[in-house]
Amino acid sequence: MKKQKQKTKYIFVVGGVMSGVGKGITSSSIGKILQMAGYRVSAVKIDPYINVDAGTLNPIEHGETFVLEDGHETDQDMGNYERFLNQSLTRESYITTGSIYQKVIQDERALRYDGKTVSVVPHIPLAVIKQIQKAAKKQDAEIMVVEIGGTVGEYENILFLEAARMMKRKQPDDVLFVLVSYLPIPKNLGEMKTKPTQQAIRTLQESGVFPDIIVARGEKPLDIPRKEKIAQASLLNREDIISAPDISSIYDIPEYFIQEKLDQRILHKLHIRKKRNREAQEEAKKWETFTRSTKKLRDKAHIAIVGKYFSSGDFALTDAYVSVIEALKYAGFTNKAKVILHWFNSRDFETGKQKVNELKKYDGILVPGGFGNTGINGKDMAIRYAREHAIPFLGLCLGMQRAAIEFAKNVCGIENAESDERKIRGSAPIITTMEEQKKLIKEKKLGGSMRLGAYRARLSKGSLARKVYKQDEISERHRHRYELNPEYVPLLKKHGMRVSGWSVEGKLPEIIELDRKLHPFFIATQFHPELQARPLSPHPLFVAFIGESMKRRKNLQKKKEK
Ligand code: GLN
Repeated sequence: MKKQKQKTKYIFVVGGVMSGVGKGITSSSIGKILQMAGYRVSAVKIDPYINVDAGTLNPIEHGETFVLEDGHETDQDMGNYERFLNQSLTRESYITTGSIYQKVIQDERALRYDGKTVSVVPHIPLAVIKQIQKAAKKQDAEIMVVEIGGTVGEYENILFLEAARMMKRKQPDDVLFVLVSYLPIPKNLGEMKTKPTQQAIRTLQESGVFPDIIVARGEKPLDIPRKEKIAQASLLNREDIISAPDISSIYDIPEYFIQEKLDQRILHKLHIRKKRNREAQEEAKKWETFTRSTKKLRDKAHIAIVGKYFSSGDFALTDAYVSVIEALKYAGFTNKAKVILHWFNSRDFETGKQKVNELKKYDGILVPGGFGNTGINGKDMAIRYAREHAIPFLGLCLGMQRAAIEFAKNVCGIENAESDERKIRGSAPIITTMEEQKKLIKEKKLGGSMRLGAYRARLSKGSLARKVYKQDEISERHRHRYELNPEYVPLLKKHGMRVSGWSVEGKLPEIIELDRKLHPFFIATQFHPELQARPLSPHPLFVAFIGESMKRRKNLQKKKEK
């Protein structure tokens, strides 16, 4: 008799008490430990806002926009999933309230509801379920981790909880709820408090959802009496309450969860067993080798990042640059170096709050992507400093565009060199609007309409780019509306800045670099290499950048010793 195909299992991860306690990392780590148990795992992120995708969100407020291979603009958690699961996700895996309503309304307009009254319940939850199942099918997943954004008790995510509840009713053995909660230790008390978690459990129960496992985040591990209290409140066994204290590296969390037997609890509750197949063993081994490499760092590399998306009230956040940070870390591990990041707000160079020659202390300078007018001159100042002082430089997207402009201005003598994005009248358009973008901008069709996702590029013979990639053709993810104007390419080249990578049809400049006679390592990309950097496959550009930065550091040390 033919064996019946096992139904896909679904693990819904919801958050209690407050946001920002690491629900995304918890979900990714759960995915990882189940991969290590031999299962094909994939993930879905649900964000409860109305925006159809994450492309229109302000990075200061919402952090980085993570672009998938297929060009979908999503939340930074999708980056965590891709990095932990070592897998490229697709647009089906990212859901927002806006995207679901848009789909339901489109279907209604197309008469797909056959004259029925289309209601919030059940039609919205049903559309959510359909989308989750579609994602599972597309990824051929045996287990799907579905993270519901926001915190329980919020009005916004109630329909997603309803979808989860409806799934549980249909497939009680295949659906699991994990509540990620937080246990504060108020300074004046010095004691870990369980009450907010108890309340979160109750709030979740009010929406008809009963947690199967509770991950108790906190500064410290959870002790037995407190586990007992939470178990009491949730009607769970003590072993279903998982202690999840702060740990210095997020990549150690899967192993920590395994020690806490979280994998066993999940598998048990889903009525499945750990597979002892070769894939499982290989997966576990690769991850172990990686986590070990994070602990054997003999050297250091001090990298200055000159960004512009930091402030949120009185707090400086680096959320807008998560993928860049991770990509640098992996490159450090490969080079056996701890990468120490130093953040500069480019505006501070403009106002004089920070002197640009502060940058001389660093081993490498990175200028990441961005939009709009603020802090642009400060970015140019930093790029010029890197160029003139032979400091290893990596420019990403906007960082590449500004590198071309700075060079055109200060080396090629085009005083009015600028980008069309800034709309400065009478400027020389070194960076110009891409042809296919002109109409879109005019008609204000701005959401989801940039040049997005993976495109191939060809690398020029003898270039630094080709040497670094060790390949002549690459595929990288993009997110931009503007491009380096090909008309200026010959002039830049004459002065020592070449285009070392072109889009395969030969039209769009993709990578620029300085002649090695002018600079040891100055390279910048129109695409976002950081989006494809993974723990198990660090990105060659970042690896080379950190390698060069360490060389500079050693040379400087040698000079000092003399
Ligand atoms: N603002 C620039 C553009 O739209 C750069 C985009 C980016 O850095 N992601 O082309």
